[in-house]
Amino acid sequence: MQEYLLRYGELTLKGRNRKLFVQNLIQVLKPRLSVLGGTYQALHKKLLVATDAPQDQVRRILETISGLTSISPIYRTNHDLTSIKALAWQLVSQFRGSGLKFAVKGKRPNKRFPMTSMDMQTVIANDIYQRGFDLPVDLKRPDLTLEFSIEMHDTFMNIVRWPGIGGLPINPRTRFGLLLSGGLDSPVAGYLMQKRGAHLMPIYFHTPPYTVDGAKDKVIDLARVLARYQNHMDLHVVNFTRIMKTLVADCPAECLVILSRRLMMRVATQIMKRHRGHALITGESLGQVASQTIENMAVINEGVPLPILRPVVGMDKVEIIQIARRIGTYEISIQPFEDCCSLFSPKEPVTKASSKRIQAIESNLDIETLVQDAVAGLETITLQPEFE
Ligand code: ATP
Ligand code: MG
Repeated sequence: MQEYLLRYGELTLKGRNRKLFVQNLIQVLKPRLSVLGGTYQALHKKLLVATDAPQDQVRRILETISGLTSISPIYRTNHDLTSIKALAWQLVSQFRGSGLKFAVKGKRPNKRFPMTSMDMQTVIANDIYQRGFDLPVDLKRPDLTLEFSIEMHDTFMNIVRWPGIGGLPINPRTRFGLLLSGGLDSPVAGYLMQKRGAHLMPIYFHTPPYTVDGAKDKVIDLARVLARYQNHMDLHVVNFTRIMKTLVADCPAECLVILSRRLMMRVATQIMKRHRGHALITGESLGQVASQTIENMAVINEGVPLPILRPVVGMDKVEIIQIARRIGTYEISIQPFEDCCSLFSPKEPVTKASSKRIQAIESNLDIETLVQDAVAGLETITLQPEFE
C-alpha cells in the first residue's frame, strides 16, 4: 500500500477548534477513502492515508478536500541512519542527470532523536552526493526537494508535494444557500465559500418555458462540479415563472432585475428557514453589470434576515474566470443557454434603485402568496460527489 501524508493548516487552530476542524476533515475524507479503498490514521497535526489506488486518482480525489494545505506520497523507514540514507538515495537517484535544482529539508518532531534537523540535512545530502548525485544545490529555489520528518517511531520521506485547496474543511452543520445561475460568477462564489468551510445548498430559479431545460441541466452540471467538494448536496430548483410573469405584467421594465432579485432573496430565505440555513451567497461583482451597483445591492439586501455573502464582489471578470477554469466550471458556464435574467432584462435597468419606489411597486403585488407558492412547488435534486 502506498501511504500519503495529508497536511492541514493548523497555525491558527487551538483547543476545541482544532478538534472540530479535524473531525470535519475526517468526515469529508471518509467517503473519498471508500472510493479509493483506503484507510486513514490521525497523527499529531496530520493525517496519514494508505491506499492501493493509482496515484493520479488519489491525487484527483484528495485534492477536493478543503482544509488541506498539501498532500504527499510518503515513504517510511526507521530511525537507523543507514536505512534513512538508503531510502533517500532510492528516492532521489532517479533524478540524476535531470539538471533540476535540489535541496534537502527536514523536521524533527521527535525531539529525542539525537541529531538536529540541520545535522540530518547535512548527513543525508553528503551521503547522496558521495554516491554520485549530480544535481546543483539551491536551498532558496529548489525544483526538487527531498523532505524528511523524524517522527516518534519512524522517519517519513517525500519528494512530491501536491498543493491542497487550503482554507477550512466543510462543516456539514453550516448550510449556505447559493443562488446558482448558469453564469460564470455564482459557481465561483460557491466554491470560494466551500473553501472556507461552507456546506452549499444551491438554489436555482427556473423560468420555463422562457428558460429551456438545457439551462436547468447546465445548472445541475455546475452543481455536480461543486458537489465534488462536499459529501452530499441538495440542489433546490424553484419554478419562478409565475413570479416573473407577474412582475413583467405589473411592473416597470427598468425595475425588473431588482424586483426579481428581491423575490429570489425572499424565496431563498424561506428555503433556508426550512433547512436551518445560515446565509445566502450570490455571484454579484461590484459594477460588473448596470444592475450590480452598491445602491442596488443595498435595496436587494433590505428585509433579508440572513447575511448575504458576495465573495466575488471585489473581483475582476478575469480573476473569476481564472478560478472557474481551475475548478472546471468555465466550460459549463459558457454554454449558450440564456437564463431568465438575460431574457427579461431591459436594455437600461435602474442603476440606483430607490427603496421607496421599489416598495411602492411591491405593495401592489401579493408577494406573500407568490413566495409561498414558489416554495411549495420546490424540486429538490440530491447529488452525491462523483469521482472517476
Ligand atoms: P452569474 O455569472 O452568476 O450568472 P451574472 O454576472 O450573470 O452572475 P446576474 O445575472 O446579475 O449576474 O445575477 C447576479 C446573481 O444573482 C448571480 O450571480 C446569482 O447568484 C443570482 N442569480 C441570478 N439569476 C439567478 C437564477 N436564475 N437562479 C439563481 N440565482 C440567480
Ligand atoms: Mg447570470
